[in-house]
Amino acid sequence: MHELSVAMALVEQVRECMEREKFASVRQVTVSVGALSGVDGRALAFCFPLAIEGTPVAGAELIVEELPVRLRCMACGTESEAVEPCLLYCGSCASGQVEIIAGNDLILRSLEVT
Ligand SMILES: [Zn+2]
Repeated sequence: MHELSVAMALVEQVRECMEREKFASVRQVTVSVGALSGVDGRALAFCFPLAIEGTPVAGAELIVEELPVRLRCMACGTESEAVEPCLLYCGSCASGQVEIIAGNDLILRSLEVT
């Protein structure tokens, strides 16, 4: 399952952060999942408890925030949110010449530590 490997990579990232910052344990992990990241937020939340088992992150809760796709228009410069992840055009002038500026990634937002 794709989301399990994503969850394991996420746990690895959290673990590195814990080591660097000398956190003893983490209570909550918040991630933003971009609509174009290819990651299913619900599947990720389902896989997370499996991925943290036996790691220093065990016991943490995962909060998944959906991140909409943000576009910048190359014709008029307007930044807008894509209504649908697959409909990539400017919200102002409807030009299809747009650049994706957010929504491609999965981002580790914050850690709540104990
Ligand atoms: Zn435009």
